[in-house]
Amino acid sequence: MRHRIAVVGSGPGGLTLARVLHRHGHPVTVLERDPAPDARPPGGTLDLHEGMGQLALNKAGLLTEFQALSRPEGQAMRILDPNGTVLRDWQPRPDDRANPEIDRGQLRDLLLGPLDVQWGRDVTEVVPGTRDGVAVHFADGQQETFDLVVGADGAWSRTRPAVSPVTPHYTGVTYVETSLDDIDTHHPDLSRLIGDGSLAVYGVNRALVAQRNSGGHAKVYAQFRAPLNWHANLDLADAEAVRQSLLALFDGWAAPVLELLRHGSAFVHRPLYVLPVSHTWTNVPGVTLLGDAAHLMPPLGAGANLAMLEGAELAESIATGPGDLNEAVRAFEERMWARAGRWSEITTAGLERLVSADPAQALALFDEVQPS
Ligand SMILES: Cc1cc2nc3c(=O)[nH]c(=O)nc-3n(C[C@H](O)[C@H](O)[C@H](O)COP(=O)(O)OP(=O)(O)OC[C@H]3O[C@@H](n4cnc5c(N)ncnc54)[C@H](O)[C@@H]3O)c2cc1C
Repeated sequence: MRHRIAVVGSGPGGLTLARVLHRHGHPVTVLERDPAPDARPPGGTLDLHEGMGQLALNKAGLLTEFQALSRPEGQAMRILDPNGTVLRDWQPRPDDRANPEIDRGQLRDLLLGPLDVQWGRDVTEVVPGTRDGVAVHFADGQQETFDLVVGADGAWSRTRPAVSPVTPHYTGVTYVETSLDDIDTHHPDLSRLIGDGSLAVYGVNRALVAQRNSGGHAKVYAQFRAPLNWHANLDLADAEAVRQSLLALFDGWAAPVLELLRHGSAFVHRPLYVLPVSHTWTNVPGVTLLGDAAHLMPPLGAGANLAMLEGAELAESIATGPGDLNEAVRAFEERMWARAGRWSEITTAGLERLVSADPAQALALFDEVQPS
């Protein structure tokens, strides 16, 4: 008998799970709140690690297509101090495929392929243990039942309460994101400053990071330690007011660096929340979580990679395992918790050093993790 499986959320984790199940000929229902794939801007660029995101894409049969789309040169990393002095200028070897970058929108389209996602399905609650299985409730009042519901619905998961009472807490670090378009034509100086990959400038308790995306786009992140209500006297919808506030926060930094903020079009507020390191729960038959829903952590290059690998592994164990669905899920959870716990520790410690009272910590961290 084929199990009735629902995946809540069409982020990298949910789509990889669905795509690997699909590859094995196993039916799967993907429930996504967004009304359409392009309903919101897909976000910036992701680096997919060889043994994680790329391994997951291999399990989905999509590695070759990924290699054609991704940007190995995007691994380049330049670090400046607030005066504009270049401290590191790291370039990948031409054959380096360890962590190439891909735009989120491109990754989403690659994973979507033949999948028949149900758009506009806003899940409000997941209730295990009903007579016909696990009940999924929707905002429009509908209800459906499944044998397994996988919550891949991100930081503010509506599936999580079915297995765990834990909710995310604020890290004390906020990102404000802005975008630059067509930098090669309109901002050639910034294009040169950012280079092929990422630029990071570390100061006391604050940083400015810029990342080149495909098509001449770039994302810029102002990162700083602040209380959650730091914007109490600021209208976040007023782009000019946010720009002036950020320019004041980074006052005294080198003029070419501040140009990154002067030319940003709109500003998106992203206070960083996390789940506790090593978040686990008592297994609930018929419901599990993966990705940010299970282990939201600081955004230091692991979250999407973990979500994708988990999706691929869960799909494989369901599709090729001995057939006991709950056994497959329990084994998956143990493996996920062990690996995600390690990454939660690494990224939590990493955030402390990258947005730190001692900017030398950020440079030291780069030297520890970057191959020379
Ligand atoms: C600025 C920034 C940079 C990052 N850079 C990287 C990086 O370089 N590498 C990396 O590995 N990670 C990175 N991350 C982390 C990465 O974005 C996340 O870890 C990853 O997106 C998690 O994937 P996911 O599939 O678990 O959840 P998500 O990507 O959050 O997807 C969840 C999906 O569920 C849907 N959903 C939510 N609620 C409901 C509901 N009630 N009903 C139905 N659908 C719902 C959402 O609409 C969404 O489509 C970064 C994060 C940030 C903020």
